[in-house]
Amino acid sequence: MTDEMTGKTVLVSGGGSGIGRAAALRLARAGAAVAVADLSEARAQATAGEITASGGKALALAGDVSREADVARFVAATVEAFGRLDGAFNNAGISPAAVGCAGMPITEWSEEAFARVIAVNLTGVFLAMKHEIAAMTRREAGSGGGAIVNTASVAGLVGLRGSSAYVASKHGVIGLTRTAALEYAPLAIRVNAVCPGYIDTPMVAPHMPTRGEDILRAVPFARLGTPEEIAELVLWLLSDRASFVTGAAYVADGGYSAA
Ligand code: NAP
Repeated sequence: MTDEMTGKTVLVSGGGSGIGRAAALRLARAGAAVAVADLSEARAQATAGEITASGGKALALAGDVSREADVARFVAATVEAFGRLDGAFNNAGISPAAVGCAGMPITEWSEEAFARVIAVNLTGVFLAMKHEIAAMTRREAGSGGGAIVNTASVAGLVGLRGSSAYVASKHGVIGLTRTAALEYAPLAIRVNAVCPGYIDTPMVAPHMPTRGEDILRAVPFARLGTPEEIAELVLWLLSDRASFVTGAAYVADGGYSAA
């Protein structure tokens, strides 16, 4: 265990799977106390259990990031358990497949499906920052500041056919990130986004048998990224090593968006 995050508490949403799970484990290995929030209580507990089993500090939280009461509870429970909130990785998200609209052009999306993707991927990030920043700024004078990383996507930078709501939500996450960075720089709170390309998680893996060849042809590295490769970027952005970095959207996509 390294100690660059020792003494810091970080809340990770979507921490029960994929990128969020990898980041929670990496942050804990760097010494952070980690609150693992997920829709699935069992999966949140599984990640938190892995952390505590290897000597780290963790808390499991279950709830829906699109519901303000749940998000407020995540933040309050984290502060109650660990005494403070220093960082957050707002990462929970859903793809068009989660609302039955994988690959559908705009004319085929229902209003409900579009609204659900926006609610989880974009409103969820707004609600998280609202409560996290409040907790970070409530601390006693002299110990303020904090760092937030939001999960956008390469879909926050370019359009993708068949993913309208997802693309709109991720473009929104980048705009929200930049605005929060401007608003809270005077309070020493850094806010950045990560833009993963195609990563080997349960969100993408089911599409590989049918779309794998097309996906890999579009990635110069000709492979999926790993959740651990995104976790390294998240750790760096949340650590003091990124002390002059705010309002940025960092791409980690094996070269996908360079073309
Ligand atoms: P994942 O393995 O499906 O993990 C997402 C996690 O978020 C799951 O544990 C899921 O819980 C949880 N979640 C979903 N809706 C939630 C809600 N309303 N409230 C709380 N938790 C919720 O997917 P992933 O690939 O790691 O995705 C993580 C983030 O990276 C997402 O924001 C995604 O858009 C983004 N991203 C992924 C890729 C990629 O290629 N994988 C690329 C770019 C960006 P359940 O499983 O219980 O629903």
